[in-house]
Amino acid sequence: MAERDPIIISGGGPVAMVLALALYRQEVPFIVLEQLDEPFVDQRAASHHPPTVEMLDKLGLAEHMIAEGLKSPVYRFHDRVTHDMIAEFDLGLLADEVEFPFVVQYEQYKLVRKVIELFGDDPAFDVRFSHNVTGFEQFDDHVIVFVELSDGTIEKFRGSYLVGCDGGRSTVRKAAGIDFEGFTYPEKFIKIGTYFDLMKYDDRIAIRNYFSHPEEWCNLFRVRGEPDKPDIWRFVVPMRVGETEEEAKAEEAMQERLKRFFPRDDDFEIAYANVYTVSQLVAETFNKGRVLLAGDSAHVNNPIGGMGLNGGIHDAVNLADKLAPVWKGDADPDLLELYTRQRHKASTDFTQAQTIANKKQLEERDPVQRQKRLDEMRATSEDPEKAKAYMRRAQLIDSVKAAAAIT
Ligand SMILES: Cc1cc2nc3c(=O)[nH]c(=O)nc-3n(C[C@H](O)[C@H](O)[C@H](O)COP(=O)(O)OP(=O)(O)OC[C@H]3O[C@@H](n4cnc5c(N)ncnc54)[C@H](O)[C@@H]3O)c2cc1C
Repeated sequence: MAERDPIIISGGGPVAMVLALALYRQEVPFIVLEQLDEPFVDQRAASHHPPTVEMLDKLGLAEHMIAEGLKSPVYRFHDRVTHDMIAEFDLGLLADEVEFPFVVQYEQYKLVRKVIELFGDDPAFDVRFSHNVTGFEQFDDHVIVFVELSDGTIEKFRGSYLVGCDGGRSTVRKAAGIDFEGFTYPEKFIKIGTYFDLMKYDDRIAIRNYFSHPEEWCNLFRVRGEPDKPDIWRFVVPMRVGETEEEAKAEEAMQERLKRFFPRDDDFEIAYANVYTVSQLVAETFNKGRVLLAGDSAHVNNPIGGMGLNGGIHDAVNLADKLAPVWKGDADPDLLELYTRQRHKASTDFTQAQTIANKKQLEERDPVQRQKRLDEMRATSEDPEKAKAYMRRAQLIDSVKAAAAIT
């Protein structure tokens, strides 16, 4: 039997917006409830891998992302100890396997903003800011979601299902009593954005780069600046264990950090800096009764390889394809169990495994092991078949296929 009540989505971040758009395309009513007063300008995710671009293309977003973002077919690994370039991976090798053989650099806040710009004027695209989800009750045929407004009043929303897209600290996951299992790294990560054009400084620098170093590895990615601003180069590097946010964000400390990678006399013009606590955690289940989890509420991981949001978008698209027929009465609600089975596997066997391996690869301290890893990376990049196999895993192509194979 078809449901009457809309699907309630807690959180208005990128995963919520993709889920909302995927439901909208299938004419399933929803309400997005976001605690903030307006879309958050969030400098976290930027890299969208080929399968994600393909999914976003089906929703009508890829052409905007490609036009406004940066296409990055190639990424490179560097050894910061010797200053050698170790390996280059070219997604063009996968041109006959994927529709978009490149990564698109497009920050997550631009994705949220674009969805609202394109669809937000339609009353059916129901997004409400300043709505803080505080809890819920679930019944056999509906959920009641409790929301605190900015003036402190409490409102109740009735929905058919509640989806927690409310990030790593998810209120929905906690209120549902779903365990979040894994570990937190002892060191925090700092992201520093600079306007200084590093491609001009060193022509071995690509749009996406990884630097191996026993104490201070780095992810270095370029993103488009805001209109009339230059592009920004984003460094993500580990902090020392015990180093405070204040110490890491001190101007001199940030300059020293960047100059250890790119020595120069002049200072770098810094666009922004953020500090992150980083964990590898996966929820024990992504569905419990009428409550579902997607994105960071279901899994978090380190940002090396740019996989967290990609996995979240894969969740959103997978979930919408199941929620829509269930909501319309065309499929049994048991289909939602398959959502957990598919996306839990994708998260643990691929995103978690790969991001943990990526960090180990970059930070290896043992000199013999380190050289072995770098040699293997170079050998992989020089053998087209091995390079393709590596990219299928690193770009989450294998992850999407493995999830789809679960029935
Ligand atoms: C430095 C860094 C770089 C990264 N780079 C990449 C990358 O390149 N590629 C990639 O794939 N991933 C990357 N990630 C991971 C990525 O940022 C996250 O996976 C992504 O933000 C998850 O999106 P989300 O919508 O699930 O959660 P969030 O972005 O956390 O959004 C959650 C939303 O829910 C709202 N909310 C929270 N609680 C409530 C409540 N109770 N009621 C209502 N609203 C609520 C929040 O205000 C927020 O708007 C990176 C992460 C970091 C730290």
